[in-house]
Amino acid sequence: MTLVVQKYGGTSIGTVERIHAVAGKLIARRLSGDDIVAVVSAMGHVTDELVSLASQISSDPPDREMDMLLATGEQVSIALLAIAIHEKGHDAVSFTGPQVGIVTDPVHGKAKIQAVRADRVREALAQGKIVIVAGFQGATADGQITTLGRGGSDTTAVAIAAGLGADVCEIYTDVDGVYTADPRIVPAARKIDVISYEEMLEMAASGAGVLQLRSVEFARNHGVVIHCRSSFNDHPGTIVKEVDETMEQAIISGVTYDISEAKITIRDVPDRPGVAATVFTRMSDANVNVDMIIQNVSEDGSTDISFTAPKTDLTRAKRAVEEVVSELHARTWSVDESVAKVSLVGAGMKTHPGVAAQMFRALAEADVNIDMISTSSIRISCVVEGDKVEQAVRALHTSFGLDADEQASDMRTLSGRGE
Ligand code: ASP
Ligand code: MG
Repeated sequence: MTLVVQKYGGTSIGTVERIHAVAGKLIARRLSGDDIVAVVSAMGHVTDELVSLASQISSDPPDREMDMLLATGEQVSIALLAIAIHEKGHDAVSFTGPQVGIVTDPVHGKAKIQAVRADRVREALAQGKIVIVAGFQGATADGQITTLGRGGSDTTAVAIAAGLGADVCEIYTDVDGVYTADPRIVPAARKIDVISYEEMLEMAASGAGVLQLRSVEFARNHGVVIHCRSSFNDHPGTIVKEVDETMEQAIISGVTYDISEAKITIRDVPDRPGVAATVFTRMSDANVNVDMIIQNVSEDGSTDISFTAPKTDLTRAKRAVEEVVSELHARTWSVDESVAKVSLVGAGMKTHPGVAAQMFRALAEADVNIDMISTSSIRISCVVEGDKVEQAVRALHTSFGLDADEQASDMRTLSGRGE
């Protein structure tokens, strides 16, 4: 017997009709003999609406209360989905994250899962039930409700799959899988059939919204195979798994972008040991996720430090920067919220020189100015002006030969053979 964990995102269960459709899918799978656990998100844009409600009341609501609020979204969907299954004459039971023993650290808003005590899920499966679990939420060891960060239902699904030793974790979403670029911006983007954890981690970290970064980390650490696919058709999606390092890998797997970060610059700080340590200790104490960092030293012994951080951390970041500026006697500081980051990801770039040069050339030819650069062994990212990010993504996708047209002849041959 196969044990499957499936996750349905907000769009997949966004209306009563869709909830019925998902209930039907779950029942069919159960009747085929599989044990099945469904992890669901809040319906449609419910989480956004809850965030907006809170922001109309406060510009800086307490993190604990935000978790209390946001966790309600998923509780609505699990109950409705269980009701839909009962309505069709089958047995299902819904559980919240805390009820199925998802234990997290106490960092509200981006809690990390520490343990999954899935006994309750096992018992319900043994009774033949379809088990429905609320994504995105857990509780600390002393019972405080936490959430796992936006998109966190993916991580719940992977964690439950790991905890139960499931055969596969299927993440159902509103696109056919992971693409070489966001198809809304690059119509010629292609679906990727198989991708390594390593590349998927870089794609997710640099803006590919299809899987939450944490979920991929969790999957890699626990060897959970993810199948990311559409809930609206039966096409095979993208498999995320360990890919044999000895296999020839694409130089570039995808182009991603991220407009969720802002750039903060602190000007004229004294150039002496310990300054960067002070700045970034303050940021980490304020729970600000710093991404790129650039420091320019001038000849007069002062230095400018720029870094990027999520706009969602900005209130905390600004408060911390203000303190640091007066403590270090820096001259001034500023925030630029109109930046964007564009990244190239590909395991093959480890062994192919010249990728960075080609990237910078393609951006130059598209008239995109580069503000900051950072690299890992399989990723190159550039911060650019926000309003040029789409043209940057398109230029890179074309420059690295990822556009579907160039692949179409291969695909035609393949399907020609098959039919
Ligand atoms: N409902 C949460 C969100 O919108 C979690 C999720 O959808 O995965 O971020
Ligand atoms: Mg998602």
